[in-house]
Amino acid sequence: MSHRIAVVGGGPAGLTFARVLHRHDRPVTVLERDPGPDARPPGGTLDLHDKLGQLALDKAGLLAEFRALSRPEGQAMRILDVDGTVLRDWRPRPDEQANPEIDRGQLRDLLLGPLDVRWGRGVAEVVPGTRDGVLVRFADGRQETFDLVVGADGAWSRVRPALSSVRPHYTGVTLVESSLDDVDTRHPDLARLIGDGSVAVYGVNRAIVAQRNSGGHVKVYAQFRAPLDWHTDLERHLGLNRRAPLSPGLSPGRDGGRDAGLDPGLGRGLGRGLDLADVEAVRSSLLALFDGWAAPVLGLLRHGTAFVVRPLYVLPVSHTWAHVPGVTLLGDAAHLMPPLGVGANLAMLEGAELAESVAACGPGDPDEAVRAFEEHMWARAGRWAKMTAAGLERLVSPDPADALALFDEVQPS
Ligand SMILES: Cc1cc2nc3c(=O)[nH]c(=O)nc-3n(C[C@H](O)[C@H](O)[C@H](O)COP(=O)(O)OP(=O)(O)OC[C@H]3O[C@@H](n4cnc5c(N)ncnc54)[C@H](O)[C@@H]3O)c2cc1C
Repeated sequence: MSHRIAVVGGGPAGLTFARVLHRHDRPVTVLERDPGPDARPPGGTLDLHDKLGQLALDKAGLLAEFRALSRPEGQAMRILDVDGTVLRDWRPRPDEQANPEIDRGQLRDLLLGPLDVRWGRGVAEVVPGTRDGVLVRFADGRQETFDLVVGADGAWSRVRPALSSVRPHYTGVTLVESSLDDVDTRHPDLARLIGDGSVAVYGVNRAIVAQRNSGGHVKVYAQFRAPLDWHTDLERHLGLNRRAPLSPGLSPGRDGGRDAGLDPGLGRGLGRGLDLADVEAVRSSLLALFDGWAAPVLGLLRHGTAFVVRPLYVLPVSHTWAHVPGVTLLGDAAHLMPPLGVGANLAMLEGAELAESVAACGPGDPDEAVRAFEEHMWARAGRWAKMTAAGLERLVSPDPADALALFDEVQPS
Protein backbone atom coordinates (compact mmCIF):
# COMPACT_ATOMS: atom_id res chain seq x y z
CA MET A 1 0.00 0.00 0.00
CA SER A 2 1.43 3.42 -0.86
CA HIS A 3 1.89 6.09 1.76
CA ARG A 4 -0.83 8.66 2.32
CA ILE A 5 0.96 11.92 1.50
CA ALA A 6 -0.58 15.39 1.81
CA VAL A 7 0.91 18.76 0.98
CA VAL A 8 -0.69 21.81 2.57
CA GLY A 9 -0.54 24.82 0.21
CA GLY A 10 -0.72 25.12 -3.55
CA GLY A 11 1.99 27.76 -3.99
CA PRO A 12 5.30 27.23 -5.83
CA ALA A 13 6.60 24.81 -3.14
CA GLY A 14 3.49 22.66 -2.78
CA LEU A 15 2.69 22.43 -6.47
CA THR A 16 6.26 21.55 -7.46
CA PHE A 17 6.35 18.85 -4.77
CA ALA A 18 3.05 17.41 -6.00
CA ARG A 19 3.99 17.67 -9.67
CA VAL A 20 7.27 15.79 -9.25
CA LEU A 21 5.57 13.07 -7.18
CA HIS A 22 2.95 12.85 -9.91
CA ARG A 23 5.72 12.38 -12.48
CA HIS A 24 6.92 9.42 -10.39
CA ASP A 25 3.38 7.97 -10.27
CA ARG A 26 3.07 8.60 -6.54
CA PRO A 27 -0.36 9.78 -5.31
CA VAL A 28 -0.45 13.01 -3.31
CA THR A 29 -3.27 15.10 -1.87
CA VAL A 30 -2.91 18.87 -2.36
CA LEU A 31 -4.85 20.87 0.24
CA GLU A 32 -5.27 24.54 -0.66
CA ARG A 33 -7.13 27.18 1.33
CA ASP A 34 -8.10 29.33 -1.68
CA PRO A 35 -11.49 28.33 -3.12
CA GLY A 36 -10.04 28.14 -6.66
CA PRO A 37 -6.97 28.96 -8.74
CA ASP A 38 -8.24 32.45 -9.60
CA ALA A 39 -9.67 33.32 -6.18
CA ARG A 40 -7.18 36.21 -5.79
CA PRO A 41 -4.73 38.04 -8.05
CA PRO A 42 -1.72 35.75 -8.53
CA GLY A 43 0.89 38.49 -7.86
CA GLY A 44 3.80 39.78 -9.88
CA THR A 45 6.52 38.27 -11.98
CA LEU A 46 9.16 35.78 -10.77
CA ASP A 47 12.64 35.26 -12.15
CA LEU A 48 13.53 31.60 -12.07
CA HIS A 49 17.26 30.88 -11.74
CA ASP A 50 18.85 28.17 -13.86
CA LYS A 51 20.29 26.38 -10.82
CA LEU A 52 17.18 26.72 -8.62
CA GLY A 53 13.67 27.21 -10.02
CA GLN A 54 14.55 26.02 -13.53
CA LEU A 55 16.25 22.94 -12.10
CA ALA A 56 13.03 22.19 -10.21
CA LEU A 57 11.00 22.54 -13.40
CA ASP A 58 13.41 20.20 -15.14
CA LYS A 59 12.79 17.62 -12.41
CA ALA A 60 9.06 18.08 -13.05
CA GLY A 61 9.57 17.62 -16.81
CA LEU A 62 8.37 21.17 -17.46
CA LEU A 63 11.49 23.03 -18.54
CA ALA A 64 10.63 23.18 -22.25
CA GLU A 65 7.16 24.52 -21.50
CA PHE A 66 8.68 27.09 -19.14
CA ARG A 67 11.12 28.23 -21.85
CA ALA A 68 8.18 28.74 -24.23
CA LEU A 69 6.29 30.90 -21.70
CA SER A 70 9.07 32.82 -19.96
CA ARG A 71 10.50 36.20 -20.88
CA PRO A 72 14.33 36.21 -21.12
CA GLU A 73 14.18 39.89 -22.11
CA GLY A 74 12.56 40.52 -18.71
CA GLN A 75 15.98 40.10 -17.12
CA ALA A 76 16.83 43.66 -18.27
CA MET A 77 17.52 45.96 -15.33
CA ARG A 78 17.88 49.72 -15.19
CA ILE A 79 18.92 51.73 -12.14
CA LEU A 80 18.18 55.42 -11.80
CA ASP A 81 19.22 58.11 -9.42
CA VAL A 82 16.35 59.88 -7.64
CA ASP A 83 16.76 62.76 -10.11
CA GLY A 84 16.15 60.34 -13.00
CA THR A 85 19.78 59.97 -14.14
CA VAL A 86 20.38 56.49 -15.57
CA LEU A 87 23.16 54.88 -13.50
CA ARG A 88 23.04 51.37 -14.95
CA ASP A 89 21.24 49.94 -17.97
CA TRP A 90 21.85 46.20 -18.15
CA ARG A 91 20.35 44.18 -20.99
CA PRO A 92 20.60 40.41 -21.38
CA ARG A 93 22.09 38.76 -24.45
CA PRO A 94 19.31 37.26 -26.63
CA ASP A 95 20.28 33.73 -25.53
CA GLU A 96 20.62 34.61 -21.83
CA GLN A 97 18.64 32.01 -19.82
CA ALA A 98 20.10 32.58 -16.33
CA ASN A 99 17.00 34.19 -14.76
CA PRO A 100 14.09 34.57 -17.22
CA GLU A 101 10.86 36.00 -15.85
CA ILE A 102 7.45 34.35 -15.74
CA ASP A 103 4.12 35.63 -14.41
CA ARG A 104 3.12 33.85 -11.24
CA GLY A 105 -0.25 32.95 -12.74
CA GLN A 106 1.43 31.29 -15.72
CA LEU A 107 3.78 29.37 -13.45
CA ARG A 108 0.88 28.21 -11.28
CA ASP A 109 -1.07 26.96 -14.30
CA LEU A 110 2.03 25.23 -15.67
CA LEU A 111 2.56 23.40 -12.37
CA LEU A 112 -1.13 22.63 -11.87
CA GLY A 113 -1.40 20.74 -15.16
CA PRO A 114 -3.05 17.39 -14.35
CA LEU A 115 -2.92 17.80 -10.55
CA ASP A 116 -6.11 17.29 -8.64
CA VAL A 117 -6.08 20.04 -6.02
CA ARG A 118 -8.62 20.09 -3.20
CA TRP A 119 -9.54 23.79 -3.25
CA GLY A 120 -11.14 25.54 -0.29
CA ARG A 121 -9.51 23.14 2.20
CA GLY A 122 -7.91 25.53 4.71
CA VAL A 123 -5.91 23.64 7.32
CA ALA A 124 -6.29 24.83 10.89
CA GLU A 125 -3.92 22.49 12.70
CA VAL A 126 -1.70 19.45 12.28
CA VAL A 127 -1.23 16.92 15.09
CA PRO A 128 1.58 14.39 14.61
CA GLY A 129 1.86 11.05 16.36
CA THR A 130 -1.78 9.96 16.59
CA ARG A 131 -2.61 6.24 16.41
CA ASP A 132 -3.57 6.50 12.74
CA GLY A 133 -0.78 8.86 11.64
CA VAL A 134 -0.64 12.65 11.32
CA LEU A 135 -4.00 14.27 11.95
CA VAL A 136 -4.98 17.25 9.81
CA ARG A 137 -7.77 19.41 11.19
CA PHE A 138 -9.46 21.67 8.66
CA ALA A 139 -10.88 25.13 9.31
CA ASP A 140 -14.40 23.79 8.60
CA GLY A 141 -14.11 21.22 11.39
CA ARG A 142 -13.44 18.14 9.24
CA GLN A 143 -10.34 16.04 9.80
CA GLU A 144 -8.26 13.41 8.02
CA THR A 145 -5.07 11.46 8.70
CA PHE A 146 -1.99 10.95 6.55
CA ASP A 147 1.41 9.25 6.84
CA LEU A 148 3.33 12.33 5.71
CA VAL A 149 2.14 15.95 5.85
CA VAL A 150 4.28 18.56 4.08
CA GLY A 151 3.66 22.14 5.16
CA ALA A 152 4.06 24.38 2.10
CA ASP A 153 1.56 26.92 3.38
CA GLY A 154 3.71 30.03 3.33
CA ALA A 155 4.69 32.72 5.81
CA TRP A 156 1.88 32.17 8.30
CA SER A 157 1.95 28.38 8.10
CA ARG A 158 -0.58 26.42 10.15
CA VAL A 159 1.63 23.33 9.89
CA ARG A 160 4.73 25.01 11.36
CA PRO A 161 3.47 25.05 15.00
CA ALA A 162 3.62 21.23 14.95
CA LEU A 163 7.40 21.56 14.59
CA SER A 164 8.49 24.96 15.81
CA SER A 165 7.19 27.75 18.02
CA VAL A 166 9.04 30.42 16.02
CA ARG A 167 6.97 33.11 14.32
CA PRO A 168 8.01 35.60 11.61
CA HIS A 169 9.21 39.02 12.72
CA TYR A 170 9.02 42.38 10.93
CA THR A 171 12.18 43.50 9.08
CA GLY A 172 11.52 47.23 9.49
CA VAL A 173 10.83 47.58 5.76
CA THR A 174 7.35 47.96 4.27
CA LEU A 175 6.48 47.57 0.65
CA VAL A 176 3.44 49.15 -0.98
CA GLU A 177 2.50 47.38 -4.19
CA SER A 178 0.67 49.03 -7.05
CA SER A 179 -0.13 48.11 -10.66
CA LEU A 180 -0.30 49.69 -14.09
CA ASP A 181 -2.27 48.09 -16.94
CA ASP A 182 -1.75 48.42 -20.70
CA VAL A 183 1.36 50.44 -19.98
CA ASP A 184 2.53 50.55 -23.61
CA THR A 185 -0.64 52.19 -24.86
CA ARG A 186 -1.81 54.10 -21.79
CA HIS A 187 1.53 55.27 -20.39
CA PRO A 188 4.16 55.03 -23.16
CA ASP A 189 6.62 57.27 -21.25
CA LEU A 190 6.50 54.96 -18.26
CA ALA A 191 6.80 51.95 -20.57
CA ARG A 192 10.04 53.42 -21.96
CA LEU A 193 11.29 54.14 -18.44
CA ILE A 194 10.72 50.54 -17.36
CA GLY A 195 12.03 48.96 -20.57
CA ASP A 196 11.68 45.21 -21.10
CA GLY A 197 12.42 44.25 -17.49
CA SER A 198 12.72 46.32 -14.32
CA VAL A 199 13.65 49.79 -13.24
CA ALA A 200 14.85 50.52 -9.70
CA VAL A 201 15.42 53.86 -8.01
CA TYR A 202 17.20 53.94 -4.67
CA GLY A 203 17.06 56.87 -2.25
CA VAL A 204 17.80 57.31 1.44
CA ASN A 205 15.98 54.51 3.27
CA ARG A 206 13.50 54.13 0.43
CA ALA A 207 13.24 52.76 -3.07
CA ILE A 208 10.83 52.40 -5.98
CA VAL A 209 11.01 49.33 -8.20
CA ALA A 210 8.80 48.70 -11.24
CA GLN A 211 8.69 45.33 -12.98
CA ARG A 212 7.13 44.50 -16.30
CA ASN A 213 4.86 41.43 -16.36
CA SER A 214 3.41 39.97 -19.55
CA GLY A 215 0.60 41.70 -21.47
CA GLY A 216 1.67 45.28 -20.65
CA HIS A 217 1.01 44.80 -16.93
CA VAL A 218 3.48 46.40 -14.50
CA LYS A 219 3.91 45.95 -10.77
CA VAL A 220 5.31 48.90 -8.83
CA TYR A 221 6.82 48.45 -5.38
CA ALA A 222 7.41 51.49 -3.15
CA GLN A 223 9.65 50.42 -0.27
CA PHE A 224 10.60 52.30 2.86
CA ARG A 225 11.87 51.85 6.39
CA ALA A 226 9.17 52.48 8.94
CA PRO A 227 7.67 50.99 12.08
CA LEU A 228 4.88 48.50 11.54
CA ASP A 229 2.23 51.03 12.59
CA TRP A 230 3.61 53.81 10.33
CA HIS A 231 0.17 54.54 8.91
CA THR A 232 -1.30 55.45 12.29
CA ASP A 233 0.68 58.69 12.45
CA LEU A 234 2.48 59.79 9.29
CA GLU A 235 3.95 62.86 10.89
CA ARG A 236 5.53 60.98 13.76
CA HIS A 237 6.65 57.87 11.86
CA LEU A 238 7.51 59.19 8.39
CA GLY A 239 8.07 62.87 9.06
CA LEU A 240 5.20 63.82 6.75
CA ASN A 241 3.43 66.95 7.79
CA ARG A 242 0.18 68.07 6.28
CA ARG A 243 1.16 71.71 6.59
CA ALA A 244 4.79 71.34 5.47
CA PRO A 245 5.33 72.48 1.89
CA LEU A 246 6.01 69.76 -0.62
CA SER A 247 8.74 70.40 -3.18
CA PRO A 248 8.17 73.27 -5.68
CA GLY A 249 5.64 72.29 -8.31
CA LEU A 250 4.24 69.53 -6.17
CA SER A 251 2.48 71.59 -3.55
CA PRO A 252 -1.24 70.99 -3.68
CA GLY A 253 -1.81 74.70 -2.96
CA ARG A 254 -5.04 76.24 -1.79
CA ASP A 255 -6.99 74.84 -4.72
CA GLY A 256 -5.81 71.35 -3.90
CA GLY A 257 -3.52 71.35 -6.98
CA ARG A 258 -6.19 71.68 -9.63
CA ASP A 259 -4.49 74.66 -11.34
CA ALA A 260 -1.19 72.82 -11.53
CA GLY A 261 -2.91 69.75 -12.97
CA LEU A 262 -2.11 67.83 -9.81
CA ASP A 263 -4.24 65.28 -8.10
CA PRO A 264 -6.62 67.41 -5.97
CA GLY A 265 -6.25 64.87 -3.18
CA LEU A 266 -2.52 65.50 -2.81
CA GLY A 267 -1.70 66.04 0.81
CA ARG A 268 -4.81 64.17 1.88
CA GLY A 269 -4.28 61.99 4.91
CA LEU A 270 -0.95 63.56 5.83
CA GLY A 271 -0.11 64.34 9.43
CA ARG A 272 -2.67 61.95 10.85
CA GLY A 273 -3.70 58.33 10.60
CA LEU A 274 -3.91 57.00 7.08
CA ASP A 275 -6.84 54.84 5.97
CA LEU A 276 -5.04 52.12 4.00
CA ALA A 277 -8.26 51.34 2.12
CA ASP A 278 -8.41 54.93 0.77
CA VAL A 279 -6.51 54.62 -2.52
CA GLU A 280 -6.14 58.36 -3.06
CA ALA A 281 -4.95 58.96 0.49
CA VAL A 282 -2.32 56.21 0.17
CA ARG A 283 -1.20 57.58 -3.21
CA SER A 284 -0.99 61.05 -1.76
CA SER A 285 1.09 59.89 1.20
CA LEU A 286 3.47 57.99 -1.04
CA LEU A 287 3.90 61.02 -3.30
CA ALA A 288 4.75 63.07 -0.24
CA LEU A 289 7.14 60.39 1.06
CA PHE A 290 9.00 60.34 -2.27
CA ASP A 291 8.69 64.10 -2.72
CA GLY A 292 11.52 65.57 -4.76
CA TRP A 293 12.13 62.44 -6.86
CA ALA A 294 12.08 62.82 -10.64
CA ALA A 295 8.60 63.34 -12.11
CA PRO A 296 8.69 60.23 -14.38
CA VAL A 297 9.55 58.07 -11.37
CA LEU A 298 6.69 59.56 -9.36
CA GLY A 299 4.49 58.88 -12.40
CA LEU A 300 4.74 55.20 -11.45
CA LEU A 301 2.89 56.03 -8.22
CA ARG A 302 0.65 58.69 -9.70
CA HIS A 303 -0.87 56.24 -12.20
CA GLY A 304 -0.99 53.16 -9.96
CA THR A 305 -4.45 51.59 -9.83
CA ALA A 306 -4.53 50.15 -6.31
CA PHE A 307 -2.18 50.01 -3.35
CA VAL A 308 -1.55 46.91 -1.27
CA VAL A 309 0.55 47.30 1.86
CA ARG A 310 2.98 44.43 2.52
CA PRO A 311 5.14 44.74 5.62
CA LEU A 312 8.13 42.45 5.05
CA TYR A 313 8.40 39.68 7.62
CA VAL A 314 11.13 37.04 7.95
CA LEU A 315 11.88 33.94 9.98
CA PRO A 316 15.20 33.84 11.84
CA VAL A 317 18.13 33.19 9.50
CA SER A 318 18.88 29.74 10.88
CA HIS A 319 15.42 28.39 11.52
CA THR A 320 15.53 24.65 12.21
CA TRP A 321 13.50 22.26 14.37
CA ALA A 322 13.80 18.88 16.04
CA HIS A 323 12.71 16.31 13.46
CA VAL A 324 9.18 14.99 13.96
CA PRO A 325 8.27 11.84 12.02
CA GLY A 326 5.50 12.41 9.49
CA VAL A 327 5.66 16.22 9.23
CA THR A 328 7.99 18.64 7.48
CA LEU A 329 8.05 22.14 5.95
CA LEU A 330 9.07 23.65 2.63
CA GLY A 331 9.51 27.13 1.19
CA ASP A 332 8.36 30.22 3.09
CA ALA A 333 6.83 28.07 5.82
CA ALA A 334 10.36 26.85 6.63
CA HIS A 335 12.51 29.90 5.88
CA LEU A 336 10.65 33.12 5.06
CA MET A 337 13.20 35.66 3.81
CA PRO A 338 13.19 39.13 2.23
CA PRO A 339 11.88 39.16 -1.38
CA LEU A 340 15.19 39.42 -3.19
CA GLY A 341 14.39 37.04 -6.00
CA VAL A 342 15.09 33.69 -4.36
CA GLY A 343 12.14 32.60 -2.16
CA ALA A 344 10.05 30.96 -4.89
CA ASN A 345 13.15 29.47 -6.47
CA LEU A 346 14.18 27.74 -3.26
CA ALA A 347 10.61 26.70 -2.53
CA MET A 348 10.35 24.98 -5.90
CA LEU A 349 13.71 23.24 -5.73
CA GLU A 350 12.94 21.98 -2.23
CA GLY A 351 9.58 20.70 -3.44
CA ALA A 352 11.22 18.84 -6.31
CA GLU A 353 14.04 17.42 -4.19
CA LEU A 354 11.79 16.21 -1.39
CA ALA A 355 9.44 14.58 -3.91
CA GLU A 356 12.35 12.76 -5.57
CA SER A 357 13.67 11.56 -2.20
CA VAL A 358 10.25 10.30 -1.12
CA ALA A 359 9.61 8.63 -4.49
CA ALA A 360 13.01 6.91 -4.28
CA CYS A 361 11.89 5.18 -1.06
CA GLY A 362 9.26 3.23 -2.96
CA PRO A 363 6.90 1.49 -0.55
CA GLY A 364 9.45 1.87 2.30
CA ASP A 365 9.17 4.39 5.14
CA PRO A 366 10.34 7.79 3.82
CA ASP A 367 11.19 9.16 7.27
CA GLU A 368 14.99 8.89 6.95
CA ALA A 369 14.80 10.55 3.52
CA VAL A 370 12.74 13.41 4.97
CA ARG A 371 15.21 13.84 7.81
CA ALA A 372 18.16 14.00 5.39
CA PHE A 373 16.24 16.45 3.18
CA GLU A 374 15.65 18.75 6.15
CA GLU A 375 19.39 18.89 6.98
CA HIS A 376 20.18 19.73 3.36
CA MET A 377 17.40 22.36 3.15
CA TRP A 378 18.41 24.09 6.40
CA ALA A 379 22.04 24.45 5.33
CA ARG A 380 21.23 25.88 1.89
CA ALA A 381 18.31 28.08 3.01
CA GLY A 382 20.40 29.43 5.89
CA ARG A 383 23.01 30.71 3.42
CA TRP A 384 20.38 32.41 1.27
CA ALA A 385 18.56 33.84 4.28
CA LYS A 386 21.80 35.47 5.42
CA MET A 387 22.49 36.89 1.96
CA THR A 388 18.98 38.24 1.43
CA ALA A 389 18.85 39.79 4.92
CA ALA A 390 22.13 41.58 4.20
CA GLY A 391 20.81 42.48 0.74
CA LEU A 392 17.68 44.12 2.13
CA GLU A 393 19.83 46.21 4.48
CA ARG A 394 21.78 47.48 1.46
CA LEU A 395 18.85 48.02 -0.90
CA VAL A 396 16.78 50.06 1.54
CA SER A 397 19.63 51.80 3.29
CA PRO A 398 20.75 55.23 4.45
CA ASP A 399 23.34 55.16 1.64
CA PRO A 400 21.86 54.59 -1.84
CA ALA A 401 25.39 53.91 -3.18
CA ASP A 402 25.22 50.63 -1.28
CA ALA A 403 22.30 49.46 -3.44
CA LEU A 404 24.22 50.28 -6.61
CA ALA A 405 27.28 48.43 -5.32
CA LEU A 406 25.12 45.37 -4.59
CA PHE A 407 23.75 45.46 -8.14
CA ASP A 408 27.32 45.57 -9.51
CA GLU A 409 28.29 42.59 -7.35
CA VAL A 410 25.46 40.31 -8.45
CA GLN A 411 24.68 41.35 -12.04
CA PRO A 412 26.47 39.37 -14.75
CA SER A 413 28.71 41.66 -16.81
C1 LIG B 1 6.70 41.38 -3.65
C2 LIG B 1 7.38 40.05 -3.69
C3 LIG B 1 8.17 39.74 -4.77
C4 LIG B 1 8.82 38.50 -4.83
N1 LIG B 1 9.60 38.21 -5.91
C5 LIG B 1 10.23 37.01 -5.98
C6 LIG B 1 11.04 36.66 -7.11
O1 LIG B 1 11.19 37.42 -8.08
N2 LIG B 1 11.65 35.44 -7.11
C7 LIG B 1 11.52 34.57 -6.08
O2 LIG B 1 12.11 33.47 -6.13
N3 LIG B 1 10.75 34.86 -5.00
C8 LIG B 1 10.11 36.05 -4.92
N4 LIG B 1 9.33 36.35 -3.84
C9 LIG B 1 9.18 35.37 -2.77
C10 LIG B 1 8.14 34.32 -3.15
O3 LIG B 1 6.92 34.93 -3.45
C11 LIG B 1 7.93 33.32 -2.03
O4 LIG B 1 9.15 32.94 -1.48
C12 LIG B 1 7.20 32.08 -2.58
O5 LIG B 1 5.92 32.44 -3.05
C13 LIG B 1 7.11 31.00 -1.52
O6 LIG B 1 6.39 29.93 -2.04
P1 LIG B 1 5.62 28.95 -1.05
O7 LIG B 1 4.95 27.95 -1.94
O8 LIG B 1 6.54 28.48 0.00
O9 LIG B 1 4.54 29.85 -0.32
P2 LIG B 1 3.33 30.72 -0.91
O10 LIG B 1 3.65 31.24 -2.26
O11 LIG B 1 2.99 31.69 0.15
O12 LIG B 1 2.15 29.68 -1.07
C14 LIG B 1 1.48 29.18 0.06
C15 LIG B 1 0.15 28.57 -0.37
O13 LIG B 1 -0.45 27.98 0.77
C16 LIG B 1 -1.81 28.37 0.84
N5 LIG B 1 -2.18 28.35 2.27
C17 LIG B 1 -1.83 29.22 3.23
N6 LIG B 1 -2.33 28.84 4.41
C18 LIG B 1 -3.02 27.70 4.19
C19 LIG B 1 -3.77 26.84 5.04
N7 LIG B 1 -3.90 27.09 6.36
N8 LIG B 1 -4.35 25.75 4.51
C20 LIG B 1 -4.21 25.47 3.17
N9 LIG B 1 -3.52 26.27 2.32
C21 LIG B 1 -2.93 27.38 2.83
C22 LIG B 1 -1.84 29.76 0.24
O14 LIG B 1 -3.14 30.11 -0.20
C23 LIG B 1 -0.83 29.61 -0.89
O15 LIG B 1 -1.45 29.12 -2.06
C24 LIG B 1 8.68 37.58 -3.77
C25 LIG B 1 7.86 37.90 -2.67
C26 LIG B 1 7.21 39.13 -2.64
C27 LIG B 1 6.35 39.46 -1.43
